[in-house]
Amino acid sequence: MRTNPYGSTGKQLSVIGFGGMRLPTPKNHDAGIALLHAARRAGVNYFDTAPNYCDDQSEIIFGEAIRTMPPADTPLYTSSKSYHPKASDFRRGLEQSLCRLGVPQITFFHIWCVMTPADWQQRVSGGALREALRAKEEGLIGHVCVSTHMRGPEIAAMLADHPEIEGVTLGYSAINFPYRRAGVAAARQLRRGVVAMNPLGGGLIPRHAAHFDFIRAPGDPDVVTAALRFLASDPGITTALVGFNALAEIEAAVRAITDFTPYTPEHLAQIQTHIEEKFDSMCTGCGYCLPCPRNVPIPQYMDTHNHIQLGADPDAARARLKYHWELTPQQAADCIACGLCETRCTQRLPIIQRLRTIAALAKK
Ligand code: SF4
Ligand code: SF4
Repeated sequence: MRTNPYGSTGKQLSVIGFGGMRLPTPKNHDAGIALLHAARRAGVNYFDTAPNYCDDQSEIIFGEAIRTMPPADTPLYTSSKSYHPKASDFRRGLEQSLCRLGVPQITFFHIWCVMTPADWQQRVSGGALREALRAKEEGLIGHVCVSTHMRGPEIAAMLADHPEIEGVTLGYSAINFPYRRAGVAAARQLRRGVVAMNPLGGGLIPRHAAHFDFIRAPGDPDVVTAALRFLASDPGITTALVGFNALAEIEAAVRAITDFTPYTPEHLAQIQTHIEEKFDSMCTGCGYCLPCPRNVPIPQYMDTHNHIQLGADPDAARARLKYHWELTPQQAADCIACGLCETRCTQRLPIIQRLRTIAALAKK
């Protein structure tokens, strides 16, 4: 598989990385292990996991798979994360990840899920960054990275201020790339690695294949292929992280990025124009906005809003709520506009305003 340099670390990462958040039936470790081994045989060398993924089983399954990994031509790189701002908690998280993975060093260790610049400041002032750098000196971490949902300019500012951060993992796809493009460009200019998670927009792209057909270049067989080629064509992206759940998905991803001609700047510009004209950013269903103090089922309502953005009329939107989610528009009015969800949203969506749009469906 083609590889790309991860910033200035000297490491070459496979264009497709294995995301460990969607492993099949987490209680059945064998199925997950088999998938990880299949990906390795297919040329994947970047394996990303985290605590809590898959009922907290993902890191354990990764550890079991790594111990029995088939031999390959390229080194195997591990990635995990800790979200604790406080140094001592961060260290405990790192030690647990090392133990579960059964490795002496985690190649890329992330300060996890940085949502805003204020959140980033907490990771710095709380000691997480300092602790990560100390662990790197001790050899427990290969490279200190940040996993973030900040906007592009905010990511750019963080990277400029902190040369010790060697790369970022961020949500990036053909749907939402204008939102973080400035961060990817800055990372490239500053020679930092970029791992793109959520390359299929949280499943939105395959679920609405007809709507996203504009991503395809001539010769692309389907939109999933196109969405991965879109990332593989971007010189700022080191690796596209795919949350594999089945062998067929690994095979499709490998096919997508094998022997293809990178998209031309003209095609990339066409995609961008289409996104900017036709789409506001969309909910990926990640659930990071929860919990809501009023128990508003935000992802379900935002999914319905996605459909409105994709052209659903009020009747179709009401039907989506009723038959797909068993919800009514009225329940969206339970929102008291506290704003908590908007500070957590990975896509920084105007959730309150969208809930009002949904609630208004009751009156039509
Ligand atoms: S703004 Fe509304 S939906 Fe969001 S957390 Fe507050 S009450 Fe819940
Ligand atoms: S509203 Fe935002 S945080 Fe919540 S599920 Fe959608 S994208 Fe994720």
